[in-house]
Amino acid sequence: MSSRRWRACPECDWVTALPVLKAGESAHCPRCERELVYRHDAPAQRIVAYASSAFIMLLLTLPFSFLAFSMTGIFQEIVLFDAAKAMFTNDWPILALLIALTIVVLPGLFLAAVIYLYVSIALRQFLPGTLFLARMLSGLKPWLMTDVFLLGVLVSLGKLYGMAHVELGWSFVAFCFYVFFLVRTVSLVDADWLWFALLHEPKPPEGAYTGATAASQGLMGCSTCGLLNKETESACRRCHSSVRAPSRFRLQATWALIIAATILYIPANLYPMMTTVTIGGTIYSTILGGVVQLIQTDNYVLAAIIFTASFVVPIAKVLALGYLCWLAAYPRPMATKRRMQLYRITEVIGRWSMIDVFVVSITVALMQAGLIMSIYPGAAAAAFAAVVIITMVAAMTFDPRLLWTAVETNTLGSEVPVKQEQEGYGS
Ligand SMILES: [Zn+2]
Ligand SMILES: [Zn+2]
Repeated sequence: MSSRRWRACPECDWVTALPVLKAGESAHCPRCERELVYRHDAPAQRIVAYASSAFIMLLLTLPFSFLAFSMTGIFQEIVLFDAAKAMFTNDWPILALLIALTIVVLPGLFLAAVIYLYVSIALRQFLPGTLFLARMLSGLKPWLMTDVFLLGVLVSLGKLYGMAHVELGWSFVAFCFYVFFLVRTVSLVDADWLWFALLHEPKPPEGAYTGATAASQGLMGCSTCGLLNKETESACRRCHSSVRAPSRFRLQATWALIIAATILYIPANLYPMMTTVTIGGTIYSTILGGVVQLIQTDNYVLAAIIFTASFVVPIAKVLALGYLCWLAAYPRPMATKRRMQLYRITEVIGRWSMIDVFVVSITVALMQAGLIMSIYPGAAAAAFAAVVIITMVAAMTFDPRLLWTAVETNTLGSEVPVKQEQEGYGS
C-alpha cells in the first residue's frame, strides 16, 4: 500500500492520496477543488518567530494608553481593556466577556499553545498537554477577532473625526503589530504538518482506495488531523478526536440555530445599539439609524461598512445557510461546486459582523459619563452579538459533505463522481 498521506476531503468526502509537496506548493481536492494542504517554507521556525512576536505585542497592548480623546477642554484616556470594562460597568457583563475573550484571552491562549507545541516538536519531546493543545488549535481560529476589532477602532475614529481630537497611544501601535503577527501565525498553522511532526502518519485502513467517497468505503476523515479512519472507530486513531460520518440529523441543529438567529435579529434592529445623552436631550440609535446618521454627516465609507457588516451580511448569511440546509435535505440538479463557494463565503464573512459591537464598546469607553456627552450601549448590541455568534456556530454545524452525498444518492445526471479528474492523485 502507498506510503503517501491519504485524505478524505472535509467538504466533499472524496478520498485522495496527497502528492509529495515542496515548499510553496498546495494540493487540492480533485472533486470540489478545496485546498487540502499548503506546504509552507520552514513552518516551525517562522511560526515560532511570528507567534512570539505576537505574544510580546499582546503584552505591550495592555498597560499603556490605547486612545486619548479631548473635546472642549475635557480629556479622556483609555487602555485596551476599557473597551470590555465599559460594557461591564454598563450592566452588559456577557458583552464584556465576549470582547475580552475574542480580543485578548483566546488569541493569547492560541499563541501560547502554538509556541508550546512547536517548541515541543523542536525539542523532539512530547511535553504534557501536547495532544489536547494540538486538537484545540483549529477550533480556536474563527474566534480570534483582533482584525475585526481593529477595523472597529478605525470606524470609531472615523465617526469621532472632526467632533473631537483623538490621539493614538502606544498600546494602539502595539495592537496593530499584534494583529499583523497574529494573522500571520494563524495563516502558517498547518494541521497536516503539525500532526505529522507530532505523531507521524499511520497507514490508511486496509482495502481503502482513492477516487471514491470515504463514506462509500465505510471510512471517515478526521476533521481535526485529517487521518482516514474506519467508520467503526469511535475516535481518530492518531489524534483521538471523535470522528463523525455525514449525518442528516445534524441539519436539525443548523436549522434550530438559523431560526434562533432570525428571531434575535428582530430586537437587534428594533432596539437601540447606542444611547447618546447630551444636554440637549437623548438620542437612541438603532443599526439602521446609525447608518442614516453617518450618511447625514457625509461619512459614506463608514456608512457602507456598517450597513454591509451589520445589515447585509447577517441577512445574507441566514438566507445562504437556510438555502444550503434545504439543498442538503432536498437535492437539486445544480452545480455543487458553486454551492461550495457559497458555503465557503458564509464561513468566512460571518465574524466581520462583530464590527458594530466593537464600535459601540470603543465609543462607550471613550465617552464615559461625566463628559458633556455620554454614550451607553443599548440592548440591540447584546442581541446583535448573539446573532453573530449563533450564525457562526450554525455555519460550523453545517456539514458540507451532505451536499455531495445528496447528489450521489439521487444520481442527478452530471453530478455523479468524476473519476477521470482523479489523474495524478491516484495511489
Ligand atoms: Zn472535495
Ligand atoms: Zn485525527
